[in-house]
Amino acid sequence: MEEGSIVSRHLWAPWRAEYFRMPKRDGCIFCEAMAGADDLVLIRERTCFALLNAFPYTGGHLMTAPYRHTARLDDLAEGELADLIFLARRCARAIARAFKPDGMNLGLNLGAAAGAGVTDHLHLHVVPRWTGDTNFMTVLSGHRVVSEGLRETREKFMAALAELEPRAHA
Ligand SMILES: [Zn+2]
Repeated sequence: MEEGSIVSRHLWAPWRAEYFRMPKRDGCIFCEAMAGADDLVLIRERTCFALLNAFPYTGGHLMTAPYRHTARLDDLAEGELADLIFLARRCARAIARAFKPDGMNLGLNLGAAAGAGVTDHLHLHVVPRWTGDTNFMTVLSGHRVVSEGLRETREKFMAALAELEPRAHA
């Protein structure tokens, strides 16, 4: 695999290879997602937001990130750090309800050596896992299939969130 993150060594998702072949954008994908009407964004909170990973390791792979563009944990205030993990917990609950995984990876990859694909805007991965999922979804390939998968993932996630938090989504 092309990187050394905690999850990538155990999984193979064809579109991730494609991601690493893509030319790097000038802008930051997190800043662009949060500023625009990006349909990858799932939840906007006070200091942080949650978004789908466009190149998921597994179905339901999402991330939480601070609005603040920084690579350094030291730059985040206590409130931002708390928001980041609380939002990840909300997401994990909705993922558990929507996708019924056997387990989950939650993690920060800080720096390219640690497997970060985007190194200058830190983000917390929330990755649902299934027993024996090493080859999960390997039959899928190509942008069309991936984007359809993302739309379905988004719908299932938002439906689960609305069931868990009915007042917030009334
Ligand atoms: Zn950014």
